[in-house]
Amino acid sequence: MGLEFGIWDVDLSMADCLFCTIISGAIPATLVHQDDDLIAFRDINPQAPLHVLIVPKRHIATLNDLEPGDDALVGSMFRRAAALAQAHGYHERGYRTVFNCNREAGQTVFHVHLHLLAGRGLGWPPG
Ligand code: AMP
Ligand code: ZN
Repeated sequence: MGLEFGIWDVDLSMADCLFCTIISGAIPATLVHQDDDLIAFRDINPQAPLHVLIVPKRHIATLNDLEPGDDALVGSMFRRAAALAQAHGYHERGYRTVFNCNREAGQTVFHVHLHLLAGRGLGWPPG
């Protein structure tokens, strides 16, 4: 019985997840990269001329849920951000990468994603 509830919880979290739905192809997105582990697509509400989300295909809710075995995955997300910045011509001018974690940081989609922002001056400290 406990095991059944456990499986049900996992299924619900993924079924409710917007980015898992995009990864499945059921909701369209403007893809800029895809490989075995990652997908990257344009943010629907861009905050800069280039605003891309780099997303692991495996459902991980927040940064707090990452495990030591995910170190290579996270490294590949940052390296993909650098490659996409270069592909769009922003690697010399500069760009920003951001992980928001939980409510006070502004996380609204609870499937880990790295924001890549470029193409305008970005203020610091952030809002
Ligand atoms: P965060 O607030 O860090 O959780 O970022 C979630 C991001 O997902 C926001 O920048 C949203 O604009 C973006 N977003 C929400 N729905 C979609 C969608 N259907 N396609 C692309 N980006 C989306
Ligand atoms: Zn998900």
